[in-house]
Amino acid sequence: MIEPVSASVEPESTFNINRIRRDFPILEREVRGKPLIYFDTAASAQRPLAVIDAVNNFYREHNANVHRGVHTLSQEATDLYEGGRRKLAQFINAPSEREVIFTRGTTESINLVAQSFLRPKLKPGDEILVTHMEHHSNIVPWQILCQQTGALLRVVPINQRGELEMGALQRLLSERVKMLGIVQVSNALGTINPVAEICRMAKHHGVPVLVDGAQAMPHMQVDVQALGCEFFCLSGHKMYGPTGVGALWARESTLDSMPPWQGGGEMIRHVTFEESTWNDLPAKFEAGTPNIAGGVGLGAAVDYLSKLGLPEIAAHENQVLSYATEKLAEIDGLRIIGTARDKASVISFILGDIHPHDLGTIIDHYGVALRTGHHCAMPVMQFFGVPATARVSFGLYNTQQEVDVFVDALLKVREMF
Ligand code: PLP
Repeated sequence: MIEPVSASVEPESTFNINRIRRDFPILEREVRGKPLIYFDTAASAQRPLAVIDAVNNFYREHNANVHRGVHTLSQEATDLYEGGRRKLAQFINAPSEREVIFTRGTTESINLVAQSFLRPKLKPGDEILVTHMEHHSNIVPWQILCQQTGALLRVVPINQRGELEMGALQRLLSERVKMLGIVQVSNALGTINPVAEICRMAKHHGVPVLVDGAQAMPHMQVDVQALGCEFFCLSGHKMYGPTGVGALWARESTLDSMPPWQGGGEMIRHVTFEESTWNDLPAKFEAGTPNIAGGVGLGAAVDYLSKLGLPEIAAHENQVLSYATEKLAEIDGLRIIGTARDKASVISFILGDIHPHDLGTIIDHYGVALRTGHHCAMPVMQFFGVPATARVSFGLYNTQQEVDVFVDALLKVREMF
């Protein structure tokens, strides 16, 4: 059995931030003559050497197509790719690795569920529930589905803190609802939703729940069985793994009941011009050559997160988040958008009349990478009556010192306007 280069990591007893930062080569670079301060992890995390090396080593030593070769390289590539799946399955406590479908990421996972699971079941007048804080990827696939079937999209409202209105959710749940799509951690607001409780509520009405776990994976230990959802979606690049790879989890019985989504190689057992039959899980949903190096790298990311420990990562990030929230709240004219009681690693804000894009461009001159815009959550912007926000989002490698540099830079930007 071939093991990726990252598998030899030793358990680490303390969260040593200086040592951890050295795992991320990009943090050594400068931007515009200043040390890089990367506050855009919610858009895409930086990669540790363990992931970079695993991908590099795969291409240098083991590269071949998976599953269908008898030669050594193909078997090694298959071992490594399937090893990534096995690690991910254990990481999210999936009962079986056959239940983990590799996709391009959260977006593709949601589209797969919409078209394969839900489309055949929907009739006009059926309802699909989403919340007001969803990323576009958990809105638009359902909208397309509504156009295709005559189903209706209903929206669970949020309050001024950016929290879900749980009473409204309770009222909206009914036998007419055929799916509830909900984000576990909002990328625009940082809100952590009580997903396990919501799944229990939905179950009373027989409503399946799809959890968008894109932002949850890097910040908290996910246990898909404990959550009680029907579907869980994630993206590799948000959790320190490669881009272009992610996963969908669902129970084997659910996946077995679904028709294939895309046709092609790998997903078939037997093909004639009259008829084709489908491969077993997970291959049934992985048509064509997969992102092999991506799967290997995602396995390495799982190893890396496991080595550091998600409780330790969360504790560190929460410290940085509280510190930054306090510092930003002291700035005159700064309004934080999203003040939920339960938050993770994201602060969206507006500073006076300064357009977030101007702010982002100027702050880049101080070496700070932050995101500005609607964060693929236009309905959230509409709710708060703003066209855009500036957003800082923290990863496991960020520090309070970086927050200090950022706050100083913000104060200078404010003086310019
Ligand atoms: N859901 C949330 C909450 C996100 O933050 C993102 C990406 O920003 C997505 C879904 C979409 O992920 P991807 O672009 O990796 O498919």
